[in-house]
Amino acid sequence: MGDGRITRVVIVGGGTAGWMAAAALSRTMDDLSIRLVESDEIGTVGVGEATIPAIRLFNALIGIDENEFIRETGGTFKLGIQFHDWGRIGDTYMHAFGQIGRSLGMLPFQQYWLRGRNEGVAGRLGDYSLNETAGRQNRFARLPQIPNTSLDGIAYAFHFDAALYAAYLRKVAEAAGVERTEGKVARVRRNDESGHIEAVVLENGTAIEGELFIDCSGFRALLIEDALETGFEDWTHWLPCDRAIAVPSENASPARPYTQAIAHKAGWQWRIPLQHRTGNGHVFCSDFISEDEATATLLANIEGRPLAEPRTLRFRTGMRRKAWNSNVVALGLASGFLEPLESTSIHLIQNGIAKLLAHFPDRDFDAANIDAYNRRVRFDYERIRDFIILHYHANERTDAPFWVRCREMGIPETLARKIELFKSQGQIVREGDELFIEIGWFQVLTGQNIMPDGYHPMADQLTTDELAGFFADIETIVARTASHLPGHDEFIAQHCAAGVPA
Ligand SMILES: Cc1cc2nc3c(=O)[nH]c(=O)nc-3n(C[C@H](O)[C@H](O)[C@H](O)COP(=O)(O)OP(=O)(O)OC[C@H]3O[C@@H](n4cnc5c(N)ncnc54)[C@H](O)[C@@H]3O)c2cc1C
Repeated sequence: MGDGRITRVVIVGGGTAGWMAAAALSRTMDDLSIRLVESDEIGTVGVGEATIPAIRLFNALIGIDENEFIRETGGTFKLGIQFHDWGRIGDTYMHAFGQIGRSLGMLPFQQYWLRGRNEGVAGRLGDYSLNETAGRQNRFARLPQIPNTSLDGIAYAFHFDAALYAAYLRKVAEAAGVERTEGKVARVRRNDESGHIEAVVLENGTAIEGELFIDCSGFRALLIEDALETGFEDWTHWLPCDRAIAVPSENASPARPYTQAIAHKAGWQWRIPLQHRTGNGHVFCSDFISEDEATATLLANIEGRPLAEPRTLRFRTGMRRKAWNSNVVALGLASGFLEPLESTSIHLIQNGIAKLLAHFPDRDFDAANIDAYNRRVRFDYERIRDFIILHYHANERTDAPFWVRCREMGIPETLARKIELFKSQGQIVREGDELFIEIGWFQVLTGQNIMPDGYHPMADQLTTDELAGFFADIETIVARTASHLPGHDEFIAQHCAAGVPA
């Protein structure tokens, strides 16, 4: 690399994406001058409060103390997502993080569960998940393993206040040398020969020069789209929701250690418990209900007093044709949008950053390197897209045209293959390093009432009595362990209550 090293990085945008990128690059790359431009007047999208466990890897990468991070962001712990009324009205299931039960021989737990269910000796899937059992009882602790057993312990992520999270990351990044410029980007200056962006020019005429530009400007996509016209691949025919109404409310109950996703007539509602308030939102498809009706549905289904006026967010599901084009890498909403049903957007930012670090360019911006990055990012987006579509498509609801349309729509080939394989064999094949693990798919497939015709023949190696004993042992251990965990609120009060000094 030698002389060709990148020395100046410009990040446009100071939302979650911008400050995550700034924090990660400043903490991992020496000799890099990093400047972040943001406009307080434009502001940030202001939502994005639920995460998945991989965020703990990001925290480790930037070297932050978890209790401090939770204190400063008003955070709570998250053990999974509870889905209401998705497959059929009245259904409830959880997509709990972590493993369920344990594998035996070569077979994963779920193959035994499928057989046990047929023979009436297996209980609810969630009874073998410590995450789900603890969640239902509002309990939490950091417990990587159930002591003296071969069973995994608690796998967790966080809920946090998006504005506080960006502010916290800003502190981390600025302490590591990132410089911030307040101002509005009005235009860009490009190199006539290479077409590369050389500088962003602010409304006041200041030019900020760089070699690598990271577009974190949100839905505006100032560099990747306005300047470079990269193009957008629209996925609204598979994920037709296009708006959300968001409103915070007072906490009305102990903070649940999980997100709730409650299906409504033409979309669904999130409930995200934080220490100081609850985040609520109604994601819906405007072809099927009006904004007024969506707002009324949301307000009728929040638990505490609203703390602000409801506000509307509009979006289009899909991804940029290339997340990296020329010398611009787009992260966050500038790179694409998948609705928050499985809390994957912040993860996609983290993932984009990790891959950018892995493929960090020199000033030649080698095309093969950029191509490899784009292929990997596309793979991640498409697999998560499929997982989200599954929740909508696999429904038996007859009460509302939106759900009928979702059931009857065509789905991507990759998802169709997954569902077919599962129906016939109970098998789930995780491809490459796709995000969601087999048991995650299993919980959603069965939670949406897709049950396979059979199970793997190796599950027959146990007698029915042995099988019943296997389930009973796990259920007992899980129940006993959960009952000894502290309450979620109690754990927070003891370790990471907002406003409590370290
Ligand atoms: C309804 C909804 C719910 C969501 N829920 C979740 C969730 O639960 N979990 C999850 O992981 N994700 C969620 N997301 C996604 C998440 O909010 C985003 O991925 C995350 O906030 C990143 O946003 P961003 O930083 O890309 O954009 P933004 O927050 O919009 O930031 C854009 C930045 O660019 C700056 N900017 C724009 N134009 C200019 C300009 N001309 N000059 C200078 N600066 C400029 C702005 O000032 C701002 O600082 C949700 C998104 C939506 C819409």
